[in-house]
Amino acid sequence: MTTKAQSYLTHFRNIGIAAHIDAGKTTTTERILYYTGRTHNIGEVHDGAATMDWMEQERERGITITAAATTAKWKRSGTDQEYVVNIIDTPGHVDFTIEVERSMRVLDGAVAVFDSSQGVEPQSETVWRQADRYGVPRIAFSNKMDKTGASFELVLSDIRERLGAIPAPIQYPMGQENEFKGIIDIVRMQAHTYTNDLGTDIVVGEVPAEFADKVAEMRSQLIEAAAEVDEDLMMKYLEGEEPSVEELVAAIRKGTVEKRIFPVLCGSALKNKGVQLLLDAVIDYLPSPLEVPAIRGKVEDSEETVEFPADPDGKLAALAFKIMADPYVGRLTFVRIYSGTMQSGSYVMNASKDKRERVGRLLKMHANSREEVTELKAGELGAVIGLKDSGTGNTLIGDGDDAVLLESIDVPEPVIKL
Ligand code: GDP
Repeated sequence: MTTKAQSYLTHFRNIGIAAHIDAGKTTTTERILYYTGRTHNIGEVHDGAATMDWMEQERERGITITAAATTAKWKRSGTDQEYVVNIIDTPGHVDFTIEVERSMRVLDGAVAVFDSSQGVEPQSETVWRQADRYGVPRIAFSNKMDKTGASFELVLSDIRERLGAIPAPIQYPMGQENEFKGIIDIVRMQAHTYTNDLGTDIVVGEVPAEFADKVAEMRSQLIEAAAEVDEDLMMKYLEGEEPSVEELVAAIRKGTVEKRIFPVLCGSALKNKGVQLLLDAVIDYLPSPLEVPAIRGKVEDSEETVEFPADPDGKLAALAFKIMADPYVGRLTFVRIYSGTMQSGSYVMNASKDKRERVGRLLKMHANSREEVTELKAGELGAVIGLKDSGTGNTLIGDGDDAVLLESIDVPEPVIKL
């Protein structure tokens, strides 16, 4: 049961973006930051276009555009509900397998980006298997629909055949390669077309007749996938009855979290198409911190384990997952808070090193600004300034609490570069 203190967590999504190199992870991330920053004046930037310019400049200078965890806000289209989307940087390269595994620990769901002209490539397969090991729910974004050779069907069949998963096509492209002009929402049976280059002007209309057959085929695939997890829906389907949008969304969401069902979307990050719908899908189909199993910790010198449900009023349990050197403030320790609340100026115990540490300042990192906060609560991610001895993978608990180590990250066999 969700308590009042935990209720903010239903509007949180902690996600990673995983991809084979060159599939478009950077471009997709940039666009996500652009669209989320656009509606929420972040820092000094009051105009969306400036965010994009800033990101392009940074890129030219070779600076990483994202922090280990970037906090963005997104208002689900068609609603007034605002969500916090924390984007956790997932190293895409197999060389960083250990880092990939570590980041898998701190996210609750992931977006797998595929190049639709290439289908599922070897590195994507590797990252996908790692996500499987951690039971990370995923949605797939079939990117580069505008590129020569692009094929949404290829991505669907590769997901089925190479990854052994059930694809749930929640979208279909209106045209492929240089004919690509918009996206059909198969759940709501609507067509989205774009009337400006930034993708901010969207016209929602009926599904054009030329796509009717294909859309009907995709919708059957989608309902069959959803019926895998929902018996009522299965009965309806067999009786030829159409499920409602809400029923369909709920079943696919359940399948994403509990079964190997992956909603598949399409778009072109480069051409600014599909990324806002992708953000909506993150909200609709990926879990909040309350919907994933609570992290477990091992009590020191015993075989006993304890659970830390996501609760700001619980005992503090946090994981340091990345250390970054910052030219202005020095050492930044990125943490995910699983349970409890971390206060600036307080003391915590590093249970991995048996050392008491002082939390200096706390920061939330946004696309192009940092926000100083007085606390980080369960489900949140941010950076701590002031921790001297805490390293990557260390468990932080409350000062004076019984020593507990969060589930260790088991390091796999080295992976040969593909
Ligand atoms: P990453 O290695 O996965 O981070 O990929 P990038 O985002 O750096 O993209 C790799 C290349 O693909 C760049 O040249 C991008 O401009 C290009 N690219 C990314 N998204 C798209 C897209 O939607 N369509 C096309 N045609 N090219 C894209």
